[in-house]
Amino acid sequence: MTARYDIQKSEELGRYLIAARDLKAGESILTDEPYALGPNSDTSLVCFNCYLPLISKFLVCKNCAVAPVCPGDGCPDTLTKKWHSNSECDFFRNLKLTKGLHPMTMVQNVGSLLVLRAMLKRETDPAAWEEFMSLETHLDKRKNSSVWAYNESTVKFIKSLGLLDNVTDEDLVQKVCAAIDVNSFEVRGPPIPAIGCSEVLRGVYLKAALLAHDCVGNTHMSINDNNVLVCHASTDIKKGDTIYYNYTDPLKGTALRQQHLLVGKYFQCTCTRCTDSTELGTYMSSAMCPDCKTGYVTRTTEGQWTCQGCKKQFEQSNIGHKVQCCSDKLDVINKKDEKELEEYIRNVSKVLAPNHYLLLDATQRLAGVLRDAINREPHPTKKILRRKIQLCQELLPVLDKLCPGISRTKAITLYELHATMVQLAKKLFDSREITGTGYMDELLNAEKYLKQSLEMLFIEPGNSPEGELCAKALEEYRALKATMNAVLDGIHAEGKTYVSAAEREDNKKEVE
Ligand SMILES: [Zn+2]
Ligand SMILES: [Zn+2]
Ligand SMILES: [Zn+2]
Ligand SMILES: [Zn+2]
Repeated sequence: MTARYDIQKSEELGRYLIAARDLKAGESILTDEPYALGPNSDTSLVCFNCYLPLISKFLVCKNCAVAPVCPGDGCPDTLTKKWHSNSECDFFRNLKLTKGLHPMTMVQNVGSLLVLRAMLKRETDPAAWEEFMSLETHLDKRKNSSVWAYNESTVKFIKSLGLLDNVTDEDLVQKVCAAIDVNSFEVRGPPIPAIGCSEVLRGVYLKAALLAHDCVGNTHMSINDNNVLVCHASTDIKKGDTIYYNYTDPLKGTALRQQHLLVGKYFQCTCTRCTDSTELGTYMSSAMCPDCKTGYVTRTTEGQWTCQGCKKQFEQSNIGHKVQCCSDKLDVINKKDEKELEEYIRNVSKVLAPNHYLLLDATQRLAGVLRDAINREPHPTKKILRRKIQLCQELLPVLDKLCPGISRTKAITLYELHATMVQLAKKLFDSREITGTGYMDELLNAEKYLKQSLEMLFIEPGNSPEGELCAKALEEYRALKATMNAVLDGIHAEGKTYVSAAEREDNKKEVE
């Protein structure tokens, strides 16, 4: 197999990846095992072997008598990968014998476990360690900052283990902390038995860490239950083009994305979306013009807002204040309450552009609330089903612009749209409000959305929530086909044939 990517180097991006040949959407670009994996720095105690939370009691590893591990029968058999490696175990055992290392030291410093594991690789895997140490750290920007002070406890802990005895670089631990902060990905921890939810871990992946950022990426990342990262092309990528990953939430406005990148990744994004005040024509951070009432007011320069319709200019104190009020309001309403969300959307729509990220946020939450309500109800009303369909249809065009090609959010929205359409169509047909032909039209529409969703879900790892959704969607696809055949049989039984909506349209034109 020819390489799918090459590593390039530039002043601006450092090391980054480009396509070594034309890549098709959905094609896998790279897979990557974690260099190091561990809990967040503010975590409560987890098992050193499997990362399950240790809620009330724990044992210590039989060999080193230091590492806290699962009590009772030990770690679940399903978690085959043991993160408390032999070399780490020996290292702890040695320290126990020579320096009296106590398990409580580990319990108290579990938030530094990832740093410790990253540092132990210096001895066990020098080549990977060197690669890790060449990742971007922005260390100069972190010096004397609050994050630097916060990490001093980790420095002290690592020092106490004697890991810095022969080290000349006194900022080495801070450098490791920085490399982790700047380059790690969120990883789902193992699901807690009988509860299902899981701790959020962080993982450093040396190949994936080289991906350059763009607020409209061209890749799709998934990490399976074995913590292996797979990066797929989300759109077609031409040979020589830069391979981008979006490290921010695409459904947030430019100001918020930039802030996130500046605080977490220490750089100012200058991508096409960030430099376009309309955010690719979505007007995601725009307000309605208080003057002409139809134009969108976008923030052109720092503090200056201009209406794209009537060209009138407004002060930051005017528009910025209103947007802030809408944001504050969303913070305080009950986001699980249908009525409160509907009211919020109604009120805020008078102030914000239709695709404003605050409105999209409320829309997504409302869609979720309605989904739960529909699932709970044995006979959901037509009104609630129609509203749910409308919300999905509002989200999709925005997602298409901001997450072109394969996207997890899009796949889920398409799936939800299809499911609700099928439900509504059945209800209308059962109550004889639509004919067999009308029913068939709706089912074909729903099938189109389900197919699009499936095409995206196929690349998700089987043992992830999205992979499970894929299996469910496939089953529903089969059921949908069976329903369609039954509806067709019904139409035939009446001595008629089904003519699709498109064909009916063509026939009409011919007659005209
Ligand atoms: Zn365990
Ligand atoms: Zn051990
Ligand atoms: Zn950007
Ligand atoms: Zn205007």
